[in-house]
Amino acid sequence: MAVHEYDVVIIGAGPAGMCAGMYTGRSMLKAVVLEQGFPGGELLNTEVIEDYIGFEHILGHELAEKFNNHALKFGAEIRTSVRVEKVSKREDGMFETRVEDGDIFLSPTVIVTAGGTPIKLDIPGEFEYAGKGVSYCAICDGHFYRGHTIMVVGGGDAACEEADFLTRYADKVYLVHRRDAFRASKIVQKRVFENPKIEVIWDTVVDSIHGGADGLMTHAAIRNVKTGAARDLIATGIFIFVGFKPNTGVIDGHFEHDATGYIVTDMNMQTTIPGLFAAGDVRVQLTRQVTTAVGDATTAAIAAEKYLTARKDAQRAAAAVG
Ligand SMILES: Cc1cc2nc3c(=O)[nH]c(=O)nc-3n(C[C@H](O)[C@H](O)[C@H](O)COP(=O)(O)OP(=O)(O)OC[C@H]3O[C@@H](n4cnc5c(N)ncnc54)[C@H](O)[C@@H]3O)c2cc1C
Repeated sequence: MAVHEYDVVIIGAGPAGMCAGMYTGRSMLKAVVLEQGFPGGELLNTEVIEDYIGFEHILGHELAEKFNNHALKFGAEIRTSVRVEKVSKREDGMFETRVEDGDIFLSPTVIVTAGGTPIKLDIPGEFEYAGKGVSYCAICDGHFYRGHTIMVVGGGDAACEEADFLTRYADKVYLVHRRDAFRASKIVQKRVFENPKIEVIWDTVVDSIHGGADGLMTHAAIRNVKTGAARDLIATGIFIFVGFKPNTGVIDGHFEHDATGYIVTDMNMQTTIPGLFAAGDVRVQLTRQVTTAVGDATTAAIAAEKYLTARKDAQRAAAAVG
């Protein structure tokens, strides 16, 4: 077991983590980004990005590579295949970040950019047609379905809101829900019921997703859970909104979060634990996009630098008094 000392430890090398690494590198801080896999985060699961300003059309993995190269060029240290297990704050104000192989990273500040994971249906075809019909993000992929017939799965606010949003593009949206009533708020439900392009299919689950020779989705097999009746539903896209799980399990200690577990921060991205910052998809916010992730990360990196300066000033003042 080895102990490493840094000014800033950044957990996760998605867009937020790499951007925080770039800014901390430029500020000449001793910072490290710890990534359990490869740099890129959700960009590695995204076929095409068309809404990152400056890039009208770029493949997800290409943007990830550009972020990684840019961060490295400005001095970021990115360690891959390093899974963080726990981050906890000691009485002396230092954070201990423990990784899988037992090493400890000590730092006065930590930026959590661990993102989150859309909950999957876990059915045949879901993985195979990801990015080829299967999506978890309406704002990202909706416009690919202009004039199409698509389906949305779920019954909460996200599913109902996004079904309504997707009718801007699609001619027809089937909203498939496994129960006979939505969990969504009444006002959102009203929008769904009043939208002539949405057809709700109650008491129904999706069993599998299928495609054609071109590798693109063509239909899904659905089943009524009350009658058992099964049929194929023709749709070129399926948007799955059955929940999203923020990766906050590494944080040891109480921090404020919303009902679904997203981290609450102040406007400087600081959590309710002083010195612990959060940026990107892991944080409570209106929308989750690459632009918002890197925006958050910029603020978090600069706020962490200011926190370190204030901490050093306080330590110097205390030493002078002593
Ligand atoms: C299918 C899909 C399509 C999308 N399309 C678009 C789009 O077109 N445009 C757009 O702007 N946005 C899009 N998004 C959203 C965008 O990808 C996210 O908002 C963005 O990636 C968030 O960045 P992040 O750094 O906060 O988190 P993430 O990208 O999730 O990165 C988090 C990183 O943290 C790492 N990590 C997690 N836990 C640990 C741990 N314990 N130890 C070490 N590392 C850890 C993960 O491996 C991951 O690399 C899409 C998302 C999805 C799912």
